[in-house]
Amino acid sequence: MIDIINYDDGNIFAKILRNEIPSEKVYEDNNVYAFKDIRPQAPVHILVIPKQKFCSFDDFVTRSNDKIIASFFKTIKKIIDQENLIDGYRLITNIGKRGGQEVPHLHFHILSGKLLGKIVP
Ligand code: AMP
Repeated sequence: MIDIINYDDGNIFAKILRNEIPSEKVYEDNNVYAFKDIRPQAPVHILVIPKQKFCSFDDFVTRSNDKIIASFFKTIKKIIDQENLIDGYRLITNIGKRGGQEVPHLHFHILSGKLLGKIVP
């Protein structure tokens, strides 16, 4: 499981939030930032992150509260509507080593723009 105590302030998404490295913004409000994935796996590949420090989905649900969790998911839907993904999309979050999580700051991938096919390991 991802370490939920020691949030790594040096992770790449923390640096993006601090504007230390560039990103291609898709959406921003007081609590959420969304930007284009640097290695897109589909024509639309957006990453959505909370501005608060959460290592993963696991950490988020454990340490956050219902209001913040609901708000975060509603914002993801807002971004999906903003991007007009009417033909469908895939929402993914990878958790921990076996989940293939590379960046230890909670993020949801929004993938769309083509027929995505089956999820294969
Ligand atoms: P995950 O494997 O779920 O942790 O996903 C991490 C994602 O972050 C991958 O899809 C990477 O392509 C993406 N990524 C890594 N560095 C950057 C960056 N500087 N800007 C945008 N996306 C990035």
